[in-house]
Amino acid sequence: SLSDRLGNVFEKLRGKGALEEKDVNEALREVRVALLEADVALPVAKDFIAKVKERAIGAEVLRSVTPGQQVVKIVHDALVDMLGGEGETSLSFATTPPAAIMMVGLQGSGKTTSTAKIALRLQKRKKKKVLMASLDTRRPAAMEQLQILGEQAEVKTLPIIAGQSPRDIANRAMEAGKLGGFDVVMLDTAGRLSIDEQLMTEIADINKATNPIETLLVVDALTGQDAVQTAEKFKQRVPVTGVVMTRIDGDARGGAALSMRAVTGAPIKFVGVGEKIDALDTFEPERMAGRILGMGDIVSLVEKASEEMDIEKAKKAAKKMAKGDFDMNDLADQFRQMRKMGGMGAILGMMPGMGKMKKMVDQAGGLDDKEIVRQEAIISSMTKKERSSPKLLNASRKKRIAAGSGTSVQEINKLIKAHRQMADMMKKMGKGGMKGMAKQLAG
Ligand code: GDP
Ligand code: MG
Repeated sequence: SLSDRLGNVFEKLRGKGALEEKDVNEALREVRVALLEADVALPVAKDFIAKVKERAIGAEVLRSVTPGQQVVKIVHDALVDMLGGEGETSLSFATTPPAAIMMVGLQGSGKTTSTAKIALRLQKRKKKKVLMASLDTRRPAAMEQLQILGEQAEVKTLPIIAGQSPRDIANRAMEAGKLGGFDVVMLDTAGRLSIDEQLMTEIADINKATNPIETLLVVDALTGQDAVQTAEKFKQRVPVTGVVMTRIDGDARGGAALSMRAVTGAPIKFVGVGEKIDALDTFEPERMAGRILGMGDIVSLVEKASEEMDIEKAKKAAKKMAKGDFDMNDLADQFRQMRKMGGMGAILGMMPGMGKMKKMVDQAGGLDDKEIVRQEAIISSMTKKERSSPKLLNASRKKRIAAGSGTSVQEINKLIKAHRQMADMMKKMGKGGMKGMAKQLAG
């Protein structure tokens, strides 16, 4: 990870008075690689690096942290600044109602889903009366899709009338909004697989006709570099007021967020975190910065951890893991902490380098809280010796444990396999992610 790389660069720097240009340059080369790996567009990365360089050179080397950590902090803070400040995620309604919110973006970016998610949120949390309308006359069943989502969310949708043009539907929606006393009318538009002139003209027309208070560009976080071109094209034709970034629940490293912000100048207002209708979060620059830098969500992990788990235990476990020891006792501790901290998915998602492990667990059928409790039951049916050397677990021992924990030998085998994979992975990570973090926790 970036923190490790910088750690090496700055190891030499210990004891110096101030960060010098040569050293900063060396560190920033690593930062640049990290940004590009996270899918930040090249011109955006360059611009960012130049800004950070200004901040970093001449900064006094702090005594309490290593220079590496210090540069990571400078980079992190600059990223947070660039990703957007506080209070930018709220939508504006400063207009004569109904306020139109227009959703634009490529096909499949998540416009329709996000329309319903935002509508539900406004209705539930802001007590707004919301009407949704689909202007997508191209994709078969697109209008029905929004209607179904409306039924799920209990948000009103404009009745479908076949044969109308998108522009006609938009006018009808605004009229219905006015007559029906709605606060907000959400206009879900058609997308294309790639940008074309006809689509752009249509969107620009509708935008002029309805004069939305918010025009939200919906982009798929997984599109990475391409998202920049998309944003540029849309921005040329409509006044983008905000960005909705979808599929943040996937493997995206989040670089597109930085690019989006730089290209559109508009704040990222929401992030889509799943397919379900309530899977929408407001944008948190701190979290995204951590993700882009490949530091996982260290900050919130550490905060959450210090609130909810026994620090001493964590330190001990971290030390053991760093050495490559990881027995069933440690696994049981992990399970306990996972339950406290909101499940396997939550914790693995926050840890650097743990994406792979999460995938592995998911492939093995996933681990929900109930499952975790079963695993803990299995481990607690083992003897002390078995826990510290799982190699002892032969057929007859497994049978005994299965009987004791009310599970099956098959489940025990599954657990043993999972444990072995985790232990292997931790060893492999060696100097990499886990150990770095373990050191941090232990130190
Ligand atoms: P549109 O063509 O822009 O209207 O895109 P849709 O709203 O129809 O979404 C396309 C697909 O992406 C659907 O299967 C959605 O369920 C899915 N989707 C949308 N947002 C998210 C998200 O934040 N996370 C995930 N995992 N899937 C999403
Ligand atoms: Mg759609």
